[in-house]
Amino acid sequence: MYDIIYIGGGLNYAGAIVAAKNGKKVALIEKDMNQLGGVCLHKGCIPSKMFLHYSNVVYESKNEILKGSLQLDMNTLFEKKDALLKSVTKVLQKQCSHIELIEGEGKVVAPHKVNVNGETLEAEYIVMGTGSHHFVPDGIELNEKDIISSDGVLNLKELPKKVAIYGVGAIGLEMASFFATAGVEVTLINRKEGLLPKAHASISLAVRTQLEKLGVILLENHPIIKAKSTQKGVHITFEDGKSIYMPMLLVATGRKPNVDVAACEDIVVERGIKTDAFFETTLAQHYAIGDCNGKLQLAHAARAQALNVTQQILGNDPRALNLEHVVKFIHTLPMSYAEVGKTKGQLEKEGIACKESLVTLNQFTYSVYNHAGKGLMVSYVDEEGFILGAEILAPNAEELIAMVAMSLAGEMDKEQAKRTILAHPTFSEALERTFYKL
Ligand SMILES: Cc1cc2nc3c(=O)[nH]c(=O)nc-3n(C[C@H](O)[C@H](O)[C@H](O)COP(=O)(O)OP(=O)(O)OC[C@H]3O[C@@H](n4cnc5c(N)ncnc54)[C@H](O)[C@@H]3O)c2cc1C
Repeated sequence: MYDIIYIGGGLNYAGAIVAAKNGKKVALIEKDMNQLGGVCLHKGCIPSKMFLHYSNVVYESKNEILKGSLQLDMNTLFEKKDALLKSVTKVLQKQCSHIELIEGEGKVVAPHKVNVNGETLEAEYIVMGTGSHHFVPDGIELNEKDIISSDGVLNLKELPKKVAIYGVGAIGLEMASFFATAGVEVTLINRKEGLLPKAHASISLAVRTQLEKLGVILLENHPIIKAKSTQKGVHITFEDGKSIYMPMLLVATGRKPNVDVAACEDIVVERGIKTDAFFETTLAQHYAIGDCNGKLQLAHAARAQALNVTQQILGNDPRALNLEHVVKFIHTLPMSYAEVGKTKGQLEKEGIACKESLVTLNQFTYSVYNHAGKGLMVSYVDEEGFILGAEILAPNAEELIAMVAMSLAGEMDKEQAKRTILAHPTFSEALERTFYKL
């Protein structure tokens, strides 16, 4: 009998390590121990940001001040990425040395009972963190050769001349940025119309302009009904009957929670495994954290949830996490998009009265040599001046927005925010300016 069984070795490992350090008898079940660390480490955050870092260097090199033009060596990038992931996985395995690691597919089959490798294990508490998988629309024949998911991109040994990307969510936009900055001709296909529907309209427009400047061809209102690999390339057929051939199609149409782990009828599954504000499922002492509960698909959110649940189990009575305080971002290039708290779209939808302050980056000399002329920052406060959120489009927006995230967590108002004096010349000055203008 275990104190806690964690199923899924993605960000769940963070909770399992803390529980074991606190003297709990812990098992961590992961279906592939080579994938300990989950999607974030092996197929998501870490490799994708490494790829984006190098493609941005290539982009930066195409500049009249810098002589010459760099090229990505995909083979070496692939090898370096693999070496990095292997060494981090080793470190992680070492950190998990106080945990019983079990390789196999776990399923909660009855209260407090987990089936794995034909055996039934029991635990007082169970934490499911089984992640999510690519959603591939009907009619698209994914083969990870020329019709690929984001996993396929991270395994490419050479760049195609052209690529079509289906989907304009975080992965679609990031991959479009990667390929375009690396010199690949990108056609970005949107089933509907519009980018970043919840963002401030000026930011959505600026993201579109940035993509166009990178040479990305945007096809909107173009649902794909069929995509098939042929000798002539990938044959993509749209809903209106028209079709094109492309050397490669990347399918980035979202991810779905992995819910098969919840094989006990007391655990209700909706879009993901249903949980309350403390990530407890409909069965007491059984929790679901991260992508599998369908709340947010971000590694830092999954980690915070795993730690929060573990603190509850340890009896430390943590506060409920406010998921609105999670920084969300899309690492487009050269400027990325980040938001925290409420966005313009959410404020409008929820009918919240607020004041907004928008500052454009073109008034800062720093923007000239940072490809940030079209960047902007918007802060929102309520009628009493309390900070509601912010949106940023700037180089490294996900870092800049940390200040607002802390202000939100500290329930600061605009007067307190105005007391901050930030470094010059930086983009953080623009954020300071948004508060100053309120
Ligand atoms: C291309 C890409 C880029 C991304 N970039 C970012 C980023 O920059 N920042 C960010 O915050 N997020 C990013 N994400 C999202 C992030 O990777 C996920 O939100 C995060 O990995 C979720 O963590 P998790 O622990 O819930 O699930 P996962 O990381 O998916 O881990 C789940 C683990 O459970 C295992 N498993 C599944 N079912 C079972 C079972 N029944 N029994 C045993 N084991 C099982 C899986 O093998 C896996 O190892 C990205 C995702 C992708 C695809």
